[in-house]
Amino acid sequence: MGEKLSINDFARAVHENAVMHGWWDVEKPLPEIIALCHSELLEALEEYRKGKQSTETYYNGEKPEGISSELADCIIRILDYCAAAGIDIEAATLEKHEYNKSRPYKHGGKIC
Ligand SMILES: [Mg+2]
Repeated sequence: MGEKLSINDFARAVHENAVMHGWWDVEKPLPEIIALCHSELLEALEEYRKGKQSTETYYNGEKPEGISSELADCIIRILDYCAAAGIDIEAATLEKHEYNKSRPYKHGGKIC
């Protein structure tokens, strides 16, 4: 840690680590990644249901646990896939953010 990486550089580092740990011995289809992201989000929900605060990290041995840790797991899975698939997630995120800024207040009258 300490060294500042771009999002794409970090995605490549995450993917490299996943490859080294054998998670890409077999090509992962996008539907599998999406399902795994859902599982991480449900883990975050379970932490919430236990009454944990969003900023609270606790440890199971050396393993960090909590809402933020599960959200991090989801981001890591997304970045891993982006690097594997050659997605420029930095450009895509910036492009989408710029578009979102241009949208009207609660565009379409949605409640959330
Ligand atoms: Mg997890």
